[in-house]
Parts: sequence; structure tokens; C-alpha cells
Amino acid sequence: MAPEKSSPVTEIPTEELPTSEDEWRVRLNPEEFRVLREAGTERPFTGEYVDTRTPGTYVCRACGAALFESGTKFDSHCGWPSFDEAIPGVIRYIEDRSLGMVRVEVRCAHCDSHLGHRFDGEGYTPKDARYCINSVSMRLIPAG
Ligand SMILES: [Zn+2]
Repeated sequence: MAPEKSSPVTEIPTEELPTSEDEWRVRLNPEEFRVLREAGTERPFTGEYVDTRTPGTYVCRACGAALFESGTKFDSHCGWPSFDEAIPGVIRYIEDRSLGMVRVEVRCAHCDSHLGHRFDGEGYTPKDARYCINSVSMRLIPAG
């Protein structure tokens, strides 16, 4: 699938990206590959960052691009890490019509890996958005 044009990513990791799914398979463990490259979903309440409150920055586990700041994380009780705002320009949005629903899939704009979904209009926070993200799609870089 040809990547869509997206806004430029400001913090581009210097490491070169894999050019094929076989290369990704070597770089990622099986669960990371299933979620990031095959748009899988980890089971709710099992991810390592569901209840994490450590200050820091969540980066893409596939390519290292910064995605979410810990200050935008909130407790949605949905079973996955939830954020009400992404770092500007780092997310690619795709309409997802699987499972008989229309949802907005959220991907890393830098490496096109699947992160999770975005839901709007639920009223959890004043920003009224919920980025429902798989823990296995991210890595937390603690502040300081
Ligand atoms: Zn990425």
C-alpha cells in the first residue's frame, strides 16, 4: 500500500526503516508484529501501559517517533492506554470499516505502523477525543 502524503514529522528518527514486512518481522517480536504491522489488537487490560502514570513521552515501538506525551494520558477504564491528544503531525488517520463499524484507525505517520483507534464525542475530557492505543505499539521514555 502506498503511503498517503502526510504532514512532515518534526522528530524523525535517524535509524533507517525496514522496506519489507519480512524485515519488520525480524525487528519486532511476534506480538509487536501482529499489532503494528497486521493491525491487531492486544487483549484489554493486559498491556503494560494501561495504568501507567510515569511522566515521559510515548514513542512508536516500531520506529521511535514521539507520539504522545504522558500529560495527555487519562484513565478511560476501557482496557487500553488512552490519550486525548497526539503530538501534532505524527499520526496518520484511516477510515476503518472492519467489524461492521466505522472507526478511525490511528497509524504512525513516520513508519505507517498500526497504533490503535481514535474515538470522538465521548466526553471523557474537555478535548473530547480518545486515542485508544495498544501498549505493545508504544514504548515509554521516562522524563528526565
Ligand atoms: Zn512508527
